[in-house]
Amino acid sequence: MSKKILDKAIELKEELTKIRQNIHQHPELSFQEFRTTVFIKKELKKLGITIVPLKSKTGVLGLLKGKKKSAKETIIALRADIDALPIQEQTGLKYQSVNKEIMHACGHDGHIAVLLGVAKLLSSIKSDFSGVVKFIFQPAEEVFGGAKMMIKEGVLVNPPVDIIVALHCCPLIEVGEIGIYDGTYMASADKFTINILGKGAHGAYPHKSDDPVLTAAQVIVALQEIISREINALDKTVISVCTIRGGKAFNVIPEIVNLSGTVRCHNPEVRNTIKEKMERIIKGVTSAYKCSYQFNYEFCVPPLVNTSEVNTLIAKAAKETLGEGKVESLACPAMSSEDFSVYLGKLPRGAFFRLGIANPGEKPLILHNSHFNFNDRAIPYGVAVLTQLVLDLNN
Ligand SMILES: [Zn+2]
Ligand SMILES: [Zn+2]
Repeated sequence: MSKKILDKAIELKEELTKIRQNIHQHPELSFQEFRTTVFIKKELKKLGITIVPLKSKTGVLGLLKGKKKSAKETIIALRADIDALPIQEQTGLKYQSVNKEIMHACGHDGHIAVLLGVAKLLSSIKSDFSGVVKFIFQPAEEVFGGAKMMIKEGVLVNPPVDIIVALHCCPLIEVGEIGIYDGTYMASADKFTINILGKGAHGAYPHKSDDPVLTAAQVIVALQEIISREINALDKTVISVCTIRGGKAFNVIPEIVNLSGTVRCHNPEVRNTIKEKMERIIKGVTSAYKCSYQFNYEFCVPPLVNTSEVNTLIAKAAKETLGEGKVESLACPAMSSEDFSVYLGKLPRGAFFRLGIANPGEKPLILHNSHFNFNDRAIPYGVAVLTQLVLDLNN
């Protein structure tokens, strides 16, 4: 049965590769995935999958009910993210992006192809499972807004989801393998902006200014004091100032400097203290330098916490379809973030795993890089694991 699932997934490979490359060629930015949405709906309609109407213009929710009679009727949601990034592609592929400065550089084109593959495979074996599968094609993962929007659209209710699972490609794991991690796997992500307001003057007469450039420099350095002296070194936390803007001329001290950046945490309690700690430092430093400030802190997504019970189910499905020794327990968690954490925060059961896309012996590709390309060889393996998981849960 299970080996047969991988064989069936392999049969779909050519068709799914075409789909993946088509989507790769037409990438769309977060919340603008209009063509992608139409494309996915058309594919799902071909399969007779119910498309639940949503208010939002992008994103798709498909619903497939199994025909097998069973006392156990799990409602499982599978999620693929569908947005691309503002990067000018430099792969030189024949299906390179036709949209200027937009590129599928995070493999979401591959995630769409895998999930459509699962929809295709499951709809061909409806009598082999019971329960309901919800296919969530989610916009805007890259800007951390899509999961919240889809939840508002009601994707987790009516019928209420029991388990939610997603995969993300990983260039460090070989094709044919997956990676799992129990517990907190990825960091929370928050955004901040700081305006430092001073008094401008001639660059030759700095004593007549309240210099926001010098003050900004002190603020940037002082913020790192939070990490090194206020947070337990065992609590993985990052504060990064990533942009600095101020001034127009080499000889004019400006009135204002703008900073922006991100905060990443694994411990939600630590996360809840950072905003106040930052403001205390910004306030103290700016006042010491006779400047004032505006501070805006936005809580975006929580840490991503995998349920080990669901990981065990995923590992079992992988063992059944991919064979022995194909599940890697990931050695360490990540400081990057994923808005899939928002679903996991709402449900008691769920997990996010990594799908290997590395070709053995080749230099690993880098996500969010202009030379990245999803490896089509990985598609059937992703399809097989997710399909088997649904069958195992609803047998
Ligand atoms: Zn990404
Ligand atoms: Zn991604």
